[in-house]
Amino acid sequence: MNKVIVLGTGPAGLTAAIYLARANMEPLVIEGPEPGGQLTTTTEVENFPGFPDGIMGPELMDNMRKQAERFGARFKRGWVQKVDLSKRPFTLYMGEERIETETLIISTGASAKLLGIPGEKENIGQGVSTCATCDGFFFRGKKIIVVGGGDSAMEEANFLTRFATEVTLVHRRNELRASKIMQDRARKNEKIKWSLNRTPVEVIRGEQGVTGLKVKNNETGEEEIIHTDGIFVAIGHKPNTDFLEGQLEMDEAGYLKVEPGTTKTNVPGVFACGDVQDHVYRQAITAAGSGCMAALDCERFLEGDAVHDWSKSL
Ligand code: NAP
Repeated sequence: MNKVIVLGTGPAGLTAAIYLARANMEPLVIEGPEPGGQLTTTTEVENFPGFPDGIMGPELMDNMRKQAERFGARFKRGWVQKVDLSKRPFTLYMGEERIETETLIISTGASAKLLGIPGEKENIGQGVSTCATCDGFFFRGKKIIVVGGGDSAMEEANFLTRFATEVTLVHRRNELRASKIMQDRARKNEKIKWSLNRTPVEVIRGEQGVTGLKVKNNETGEEEIIHTDGIFVAIGHKPNTDFLEGQLEMDEAGYLKVEPGTTKTNVPGVFACGDVQDHVYRQAITAAGSGCMAALDCERFLEGDAVHDWSKSL
């Protein structure tokens, strides 16, 4: 029987694991298909406090993992297909294996949606990015493309004009999905060029990195290459919560709902932290902060009266 299982090894899960391990709770941390989470797909992280010279994303995550291990966190690779949170102990199903736990911290994160075109995935971190806040700084004085027509794309395009000489917004339709205020802000920005009604077809790469995006003009069917130094894909995120369907309260986009100001989900003893419950901030540091909160909420839950009331509340 596990006292606590942490699902996911991004900054939220690993911070929770550090705190739980230091509190002698011997957390079992389950590493999914992308150990270390989204930061392992970026290059240099310059905005995580404590690293004045920056640190590579994979190294930061490796350090967090080592820190958790040092205090006794246990790690297990695996893919949780489903969970039963209807009674305690909770049950996690991983293939043939069933694991039981008194409490659960969910930090499975969110995945940036990708276009799924040739050249995209293999150039992530080398000219293709899904995070303007993380990578915009590397494109000072360069040309950038932002793909998408929603609020994220408008926000990222505006933000990136701080660094880029020119930002071209590529969207597959003539109409934008973004709210009027966000559209207006982007339209007023003279550094933003518009390439609407264009569907991205392929990321073009030269010897030094990304050099362009091939797009199809949806009106004429013709293909053209827009030359660029970097491509930011801003077509939305998807929280990794499919396996929790029907078990926990979520919003319409699938983000877990937590009691405001805490990490408590609607099931006592189940906590959520990081991007799986946050579609607003989505930063490593905010994820780490909420991971700390989840560990403390979990400790208090196990220590407190809640543990005795729990079965009655079912
Ligand atoms: P979104 O609203 O779902 O917009 C996604 C955009 O990407 C759409 O324009 C969509 O095109 C396009 N897209 C999706 N799949 C594509 C594909 N395969 N190829 C090409 N284009 C594709 O996502 P979001 O912009 O990330 O926003 C998510 C939520 O967060 C929204 O509720 C938004 O209001 C909110 N948000 C708010 C703010 C803010 O207020 N400051 C900032 C960011 C996000 P179509 O339009 O053709 O479907």
